[in-house]
Amino acid sequence: MEEMKQLIAETEETLAPYFKYIEEVAYENQEKVLNAFHAVKATENDLQGTTGYGYDDLGRDHLEAIYAHAFKAEDAIVRPQIISGTHAITIALQSVLKYGDELLYITGNPYDTLLEVIGINGNGIESLREHGVSYDKVDLKEGDIDIQAVFKQIKPQTKVIAIQRSKGYDQRPSIKLDLIEQAIQQIKAQYPDIIIFVDNCYGEFVEKREPIECGADLIAGSLIKNPGGGLAKIGGYIAGEKSLVERCGYRLTAPGIGKEAGASLNSLQEMYQGFFLAPHVVSQSLKGALFTSLLLEKMDMRTAPRYDVDRTDLIQTVSFDTKEQMILFCQSIQQASPINAHFSPEPAYMPGYEDDVIMAAGTFVQGSSIELSADGPIRSPYEVYVQGGLTYEHVKLAVTRAAQKLKTQQLV
Ligand SMILES: *Cc1c(COP(=O)(O)O)cnc(C)c1O
Repeated sequence: MEEMKQLIAETEETLAPYFKYIEEVAYENQEKVLNAFHAVKATENDLQGTTGYGYDDLGRDHLEAIYAHAFKAEDAIVRPQIISGTHAITIALQSVLKYGDELLYITGNPYDTLLEVIGINGNGIESLREHGVSYDKVDLKEGDIDIQAVFKQIKPQTKVIAIQRSKGYDQRPSIKLDLIEQAIQQIKAQYPDIIIFVDNCYGEFVEKREPIECGADLIAGSLIKNPGGGLAKIGGYIAGEKSLVERCGYRLTAPGIGKEAGASLNSLQEMYQGFFLAPHVVSQSLKGALFTSLLLEKMDMRTAPRYDVDRTDLIQTVSFDTKEQMILFCQSIQQASPINAHFSPEPAYMPGYEDDVIMAAGTFVQGSSIELSADGPIRSPYEVYVQGGLTYEHVKLAVTRAAQKLKTQQLV
């Protein structure tokens, strides 16, 4: 225990200057969000929801304007009817890709759940492929977008180029916005009509900019990750160029209706407040990720990224030698959760994922990964993705206990 205390003290001392930078980013993003609230003139009435068809739902419309303003987009859709990040991305891709078009991913394999959306895995039902949309990908090269390979891969029918900012459940690094910007500039210089879509999941408010500012046409993400600030109980967003967002509205509801309808019920207050808190909550998660990275590194575990590397998302990978270590680590995180701490997660099948997955999360919002969670597919090299944390203190407690447990059971 004494030894652990010493390790923690050293860890936090090393991290102090990095924490300062995280606070600086949070400050700028907080100002950006506050300015968006002011530009839209958010009122107390906006926090009330509507019922039924949800026509003239000013609170919903103003929230969408706030998202658009903060993300420097022409328009946005932010809805409780979008059930997840996968759903938001699916709406975006289905809206812009039609029969005969090609989707080209330039950051390697897409996130697991999108494989079925595209039609790479699964039964193909209602996939892009079933609708006549073809797919290709370009792998990363030394952690960056391989622009030469991208140019070779672009075909006359390449309609959308997709970029995934966060590594998700992959061994590749996440892609920082300056690299995304360089790639977009080069693509747009030669192919101005190709639509650039960015899967922004886990990326919001980690850097000082967002992908639209770097040239993306359309972005999407989940409100039970970063931009929901831990308060939103459901929802996804899409933001970008006006005509594209309009299409997404038609796809979400119905042609002709689009963004005009869709009751917000009781979801608005927490979506507004969550977005307001998001820059700070993201900073707490980031500090937790750095702590996880350095503490476990000091205990001879393999983690990525390192604490001193610039980040663009919340995900901290911890790799274990064995399945047993991986499972024990996840179970320890669960035991340090506020909710369901007395339950123990086991690896199991999850819809949308190829391998069994273990998910440790005792969260207030089911599956929320802006709250502390640890999960990963049970496949070599036994990588656990640790992300989120509403407060730094909670992450520190949970990871310290998990590390202690591995030590006590002599698994490290
Ligand atoms: C989480 C995530 C998704 C999917 O979001 P869900 O809300 O889990 O459906 C897609 N892409 C990336 C990079 C993600 O991290």
